[in-house]
Amino acid sequence: LLMAYDPARRLARLQVQLERAVVNARMIYELLDLQPQQRERADAKDLVVTDAKIELENVSFRYGNGDEILKGVNLMAEGGKTTALVGPSGAGKSTIISLLPRFYDPAEGRILIDGQDISHVTKASLRHHLAYVSQQPYLFEGSIRDNIRYGRPEATDTEVEEAAKLAYAHDFILAQPQGYDTPVGENGVTLSGGQRQRLSIARALVRNAPILLLDEATSALDNESEAAVQKALETAMRGRTVVVVAHRLSTIVKADKIVVMNEGRVAEEGSHEALAQRPDGLYARLNNLQKPI
Ligand code: ATP
Repeated sequence: LLMAYDPARRLARLQVQLERAVVNARMIYELLDLQPQQRERADAKDLVVTDAKIELENVSFRYGNGDEILKGVNLMAEGGKTTALVGPSGAGKSTIISLLPRFYDPAEGRILIDGQDISHVTKASLRHHLAYVSQQPYLFEGSIRDNIRYGRPEATDTEVEEAAKLAYAHDFILAQPQGYDTPVGENGVTLSGGQRQRLSIARALVRNAPILLLDEATSALDNESEAAVQKALETAMRGRTVVVVAHRLSTIVKADKIVVMNEGRVAEEGSHEALAQRPDGLYARLNNLQKPI
């Protein structure tokens, strides 16, 4: 307990949180960057998505010259299903998510979407098929409408409102002083954590992408917001391939497949029932702590 008050540790923790926020903003910005990017092969073709099945084959990765963070990861996320990544902090879960839009490339191994190596396709076509929801949502300077439309700049007003309805955001938006034109961000109205999350879900929904990447926050909302956000997320997840870094037990239990990561490797995988029954399994041990993983 004393350790928690150690100022050096607190600073280190803050630093990590700041880096996370920057990465989250980058994920949102860059997913929308339709310009051809660096490291694209001259013969790159457009990604063709049919089932939206994702496979990692023997993927190893390190940041710069640092330690190896992923060590030969094999993982399959079935099309239209939810795959939850769980495991101790630092296991490499978020790193896996950031490899999918190619913010980084594996040092070894490959990542396939419907059998196509993502390093062989154009980045614009890859990112076109991905949507990302961080549960530490990022709002830009601008109106509520702008913030949702950021998910797909050519979306019509009707499409923006449809997405907001699906994200259970329409009613609270209409209750704002200028409805969809209400400014948010630093100089705008203050929205609750749950409202911000629903806006970020609406932003992902307006993209209508077949693959949804979710990074679940550890901090809890009040019960009412929590319920609204859960409903919005369930709508967003329906019919899509979802890869979620999961901390909430409810998300984990409902996932079609749980992949337990530990120290850069897949420790075990399976359904909640199957994993919880393995007496010596990491999942069973984490589960017994009865805390968010
Ligand atoms: P958490 O549950 O805490 O989010 P995680 O399983 O998602 O953990 P990652 O965020 O993937 O783990 O981090 C794995 C390791 O990589 C950690 O040791 C982390 O410090 C390191 N790491 C993450 N991002 C970077 C980065 N941009 N540069 C250098 N190292 C990083």
